[in-house]
Amino acid sequence: MTRNNPQTREWQALSNDHHLAPFSDFKQLKEKGPRIITHAKGVYLWDSEGNQILDGMAGLWCVAVGYGRDELADAASRQMRELPYYNLFFQTAHPPVLELSKVIADIAPQGMNHVFFTGSGSEGNDTMLRMVRHYWAIKGQPNKKVIISRKNGYHGSTVAGASLGGMTYMHEQGDLPIPGIVHIAQPYWFGEGGDMSPEAFGVWAADQLEAKILEIGVDNVGAFIAEPIQGAGGVIVPPDSYWPRVKEILAKYDILFVADEVICGFGRTGEWFGTDHFDLKPHMMTIAKGLTSGYIPMGGLIVRDDVVAVLNEGGDFNHGFTYSGHPVAAAVALENIRILRDEKIIERVHSETAPYLQKRLRELNDHPLVGEVRGVGLLGAIELVQDKATRKRYEGRGVGMICRQFCFDNGLIMRAVGDTMIIAPPLVISQAEIDELVAKARQCLDLTLSALQG
Ligand SMILES: *Cc1c(COP(=O)(O)O)cnc(C)c1O
Repeated sequence: MTRNNPQTREWQALSNDHHLAPFSDFKQLKEKGPRIITHAKGVYLWDSEGNQILDGMAGLWCVAVGYGRDELADAASRQMRELPYYNLFFQTAHPPVLELSKVIADIAPQGMNHVFFTGSGSEGNDTMLRMVRHYWAIKGQPNKKVIISRKNGYHGSTVAGASLGGMTYMHEQGDLPIPGIVHIAQPYWFGEGGDMSPEAFGVWAADQLEAKILEIGVDNVGAFIAEPIQGAGGVIVPPDSYWPRVKEILAKYDILFVADEVICGFGRTGEWFGTDHFDLKPHMMTIAKGLTSGYIPMGGLIVRDDVVAVLNEGGDFNHGFTYSGHPVAAAVALENIRILRDEKIIERVHSETAPYLQKRLRELNDHPLVGEVRGVGLLGAIELVQDKATRKRYEGRGVGMICRQFCFDNGLIMRAVGDTMIIAPPLVISQAEIDELVAKARQCLDLTLSALQG
């Protein structure tokens, strides 16, 4: 990267001297220096060198309404002047959190009318774990503690969140998972389906849930948590046979189903929630990211009425955060949802931009590096392979990282999960911007292929 702006070097020096960045190799980052993002508008970011970059990841999957919406800034500023903070602990409340609870109940699946707010998705899942165990204890079944999750799922980075997640590289640091959390196979046909057809593999992966429930004993299992579509794991869309079979299994056993909607929620699939897309009927849904379009941190847990009815009988729930339902975050979330509704952004994703993105992305299937293109709504994944027919990878070449770097250098943010390239652009992306995204993606695939051959 060429550095012409002297301020870039100053900021990088501050990074080296004082900042510890999340999910980073601290030493390597010092050598390379971070790219400094200075401002953004719509689907575009600008760095301190003046480069314009199409953000194919909506930040970290969150900037649903796009960058630079003054209404969100105004909502925050108005609320800060009116009531910048008050807590909800001691039998108090404030208008923004109450109005937001009602609006979320309106858009959530039927029968999900209550929300517990947190500061993040991880905290939403921590809340879930404690609420599930509290629920079963109230029902006189305190042994139903175990939460079943999936390998390569992502549920956050707190101790409970990382334990619920199935990222082994996260478990290796800090002696995770904590007790009472177990993982089953993920429905990742392209990577793990072997010789099975996608449909047969989907049934097999779903059956792992039943096998695990029977192994542990249904009297010890409290809940199953899953993302409708795994995001950070590589935009893994399960085979069509997966969710119907999981639903059958869940109906058979007395356990709770938690949908982690932190990525799929608020329109990503072209419906309000991923569970609407797959017609899942969860007891709880974790939310964050798109809730505020990332303009301010906020997460939460939406809880179904029958679960709330039990919790109502349990006395105090001894859990909460200083920033649960923060009034400024709630005001921003309300305005964000208003924009999503009034501008019919999700309807447009559903009928226009998602079908267009999915069609255009699949044109990349003809590229020699591409083994599969998949996606739903405004989520997409491109698998990079050495051999299309056998799905064989370029072992040990770090192809995903090579491609990601070419993207960055050519004005596109596309993330790499191993050798899977993933995208999740802002929901407001236009057809012309999708054309630009796909053209840049193809150009970067070409550059990656030449680098591999060179
Ligand atoms: C990002 C994410 C989380 C964690 O949210 P944070 O706000 O980073 O704590 C949880 N679940 C899923 C599916 C996510 O993508």
